[in-house]
Amino acid sequence: MLLLFDIDGTLLLEATREHHEALLAAIRQVWHVADPGAVHVETAGRTDTEIARQILLRIDVDADDIDDGLHEFRSAAAAIYSRNVPRDLSEHVAPGVTEVLPKLAGRDGTLLSLATGDLEPIARMKLRAAGIGHFFDHGQGAFGSDAEDRAELPTIARVRAGARDGGGPWPRRRTVLIGDTPLDIACARADGVRSIAVTTGPYGAEELRDADHVVAGIHELLHVLVGSG
Ligand SMILES: [Mg+2]
Repeated sequence: MLLLFDIDGTLLLEATREHHEALLAAIRQVWHVADPGAVHVETAGRTDTEIARQILLRIDVDADDIDDGLHEFRSAAAAIYSRNVPRDLSEHVAPGVTEVLPKLAGRDGTLLSLATGDLEPIARMKLRAAGIGHFFDHGQGAFGSDAEDRAELPTIARVRAGARDGGGPWPRRRTVLIGDTPLDIACARADGVRSIAVTTGPYGAEELRDADHVVAGIHELLHVLVGSG
């Protein structure tokens, strides 16, 4: 089974402050806009690039100028975050994660991976600071730096998982995505893979009802995965 974990609201709780500040600082640096933080955009479930684009569109930055700056934005955001990443994010690890990940990693035929809107360098630094980075191999997963549209992430992660053994994309029927927003569920659907939603993020069970399973948190994950084969 390939397990594609979201990070924010799923593996880590409220560990986004320095991350969001890095995105805003990078926007100021690249597009020379004064106060991108004054614009409120929905961030949960969105990729970092998508968040930047939404902010810039709201303050009337030209679409071509946005596209031209995206490459620089990604490197600037990662560089700024690397200077400000908290040394220890372990208190932000969601309940059950440190118990469940080793159990899942030890199961035959199970591969732990990521499907997150975070830019990859930021995602890796964040997980390392939280003490759970070693569960997620480099070269695996899909990130906000791979695609602006979250819907593309599961396919990218399956291609990388399959390529590990020199094969084609990892099969959909043996892939489960775990996330905390309706956009996570929608991206699983877009790729035709199953989804498990956790209510540890900003959304409740009712808003996440399109998932194949809704659970109160990662601590219930093993039970659902074993129960559903
Ligand atoms: Mg999330």
